[in-house]
Amino acid sequence: MDVHWHRSDLRATDNTGLAAAAEDEVLPVFVFDDAVLRHGSPPRVAFMLDALAELREWYRERGGDLHVARGDPTEVLPALATEHGAGTVHYDGDYSGLARERDTAVSDALEAEGVAAERHEDALHQEPGSILTNQGEPYSVYTYFWKKWRDRPKDDPYDPPEEIADVPGAALPTLADLGFEEPDADVEAGGMAAARDRLDAFLDGPIYEYADARDDPAADNTSRLSAHLRWGTIGPRDVYAGTERAMAEAPDDDAGEAVEEFRGELAWREFYHHVLHFHPRVVTENYNEYEEGIAWRDDPEEIAAWKRGETGYPIVDAGMRQLLDEAYMHNRVRMIVASFLTKDLMADWRHGYAHFREHLVDHNTANDNGGWQWAASTGTDAQPYFRIFNPMSQGERHDPDAEYVAEYVPELADVPADKVHSWHELDHAERNRLAPEYPHPIVDHGERRDEALAMFKRARGED
Ligand code: FAD
Repeated sequence: MDVHWHRSDLRATDNTGLAAAAEDEVLPVFVFDDAVLRHGSPPRVAFMLDALAELREWYRERGGDLHVARGDPTEVLPALATEHGAGTVHYDGDYSGLARERDTAVSDALEAEGVAAERHEDALHQEPGSILTNQGEPYSVYTYFWKKWRDRPKDDPYDPPEEIADVPGAALPTLADLGFEEPDADVEAGGMAAARDRLDAFLDGPIYEYADARDDPAADNTSRLSAHLRWGTIGPRDVYAGTERAMAEAPDDDAGEAVEEFRGELAWREFYHHVLHFHPRVVTENYNEYEEGIAWRDDPEEIAAWKRGETGYPIVDAGMRQLLDEAYMHNRVRMIVASFLTKDLMADWRHGYAHFREHLVDHNTANDNGGWQWAASTGTDAQPYFRIFNPMSQGERHDPDAEYVAEYVPELADVPADKVHSWHELDHAERNRLAPEYPHPIVDHGERRDEALAMFKRARGED
């Protein structure tokens, strides 16, 4: 018998470590580890508990069980493996520095008891180190990384296990047992079936519109797979195999290009995981070192208004309220709100990152950090500091009928779209007449743009 230790791979199919463990009878286990839960948040833990309940059911329907334990994995896993005579504990690799430290400690503890520990590469098609420049360095520019990623062969999905040991552990805890409140947001359902439904629905049509419609937040036609990829309720090979089917059935060249564009986003995810692997310091530090520190403004009231979705910039507020309502935000709007925080409010990206980490169901260190450092012009292949989004024209371009704004900012639901997108230019009296409950802009975009440029130039030693 071998053990498979589930972590961020809450699925039975297309799971590298589980498939390796399942060459023999497999004992699947999940350990609630307080050191990891400390970094959790209600939406993410709720999604994870859904996924675990479904995974346990999956095993039970096949005559086995998911062994659930709470404690320190350096103690739980050696004890479990020795009690059941398991030769190896398999697990799928994580990428953050903390996770890697934990995995080393667990491997050492297992080996001290004569049990082998085997790490499997699972969550990415291309592991860190497998795509390097000709000089053997990790890429800091996405386009070159993408070309290699695109051309590499991709593995097929792995089969699920057949022989599953029946070793029940403690019952699944509730959110309250784990010390979390119920999430305020309406969090999407976690689990393999929900992931499969999302993928199938996306492949059924929206994927062919992806290139055109992915920047339209009201259309909401992206895959919505991010939380599933983050928690591993679907495997990356399964998703890629879906794109191969879609490519084979693409009705025309444009549709095929849209599939390729979607693959490009899957590659961004891998790119940022590589960045995190090679530069673990980015979790807290700018990837790009500036000559002087950036003198962020960090006004607490402005940051608080941004978090509440009350900046008086409609597209920004709609995004921030979508986050609070659904624990999710559309990608285009994430870019807009992140630019607004770092350039218009001139606040350190780390405030935004911490807020996203608390509220996003799909938060993962690599993508969240990559997204924030991109928007703040501090990261790898980041937005150049002098290209500052104008939140009004972004709204006008990507939500022309202000439908997305109307959905999340009810105070503006009856305001004509042209007024919504020129809110900043209206006078007080007109704003009060149109939507008395909605805030006036808390900053002047033009002024802040100039100040932000000066802030970055000073940090670059260019003033
Ligand atoms: P789709 O457009 O359908 O893309 C498919 C998959 O590709 C996504 O599920 C995701 O895994 C990956 N992907 C898409 N866009 C990106 C991107 N720009 N960078 C990296 N991977 C991408 N994504 C997260 O998964 N977790 C985060 O915590 C996160 N934080 C972000 C913070 C900021 C400031 C920004 C600008 C972006 C962030 N993203 C994050 C990336 C992106 O916004 C989400 O992955 C995407 O909106 C999820 O929706 P989807 O699954 O429908 O995406």
